[in-house]
Amino acid sequence: MKTIFDFFFNRDSLRKVETELYPDPVSSRGEQDLPARTRGEIKNDLTLCTGCGDCVTHCPTSCIELVNGPEKDDRPNVEVFNIDFSNCIFCGECVSVCEPQSLTQKKRFLLPVEKPADLKIRFGRRDDADD
Ligand code: SF4
Ligand code: SF4
Repeated sequence: MKTIFDFFFNRDSLRKVETELYPDPVSSRGEQDLPARTRGEIKNDLTLCTGCGDCVTHCPTSCIELVNGPEKDDRPNVEVFNIDFSNCIFCGECVSVCEPQSLTQKKRFLLPVEKPADLKIRFGRRDDADD
């Protein structure tokens, strides 16, 4: 009851504010102001990815799909690399095991889409690939 009375009579105005709006319309604080280790969306730079599959093995929710095609000009040919962000828990495990550092974790965490299926993001070279 004390908490409720404090709230209704605005006695909590003296308490330290622990939460803040994001993005903050007053201070204009946004994505760039989030802590350096913020775990947001994952990106894959296919020019670095070797298709080794370590990220797939370590992903706790099995939300990464990887299909390697035949090598082209002695270079790895990652045909399918999908991340289903509807299952991803943004743990960053895939990024930490990726030796060539082709995977990076950005600060962006708002990923609005119209359909859940649109949360599957395709990085591979095969545009038509579904799995
Ligand atoms: S661990 Fe890195 S290099 Fe290996 S398949 Fe995954 S993204 Fe590519
Ligand atoms: S952040 Fe975690 S859950 Fe998401 S793709 Fe990487 S390993 Fe899987």
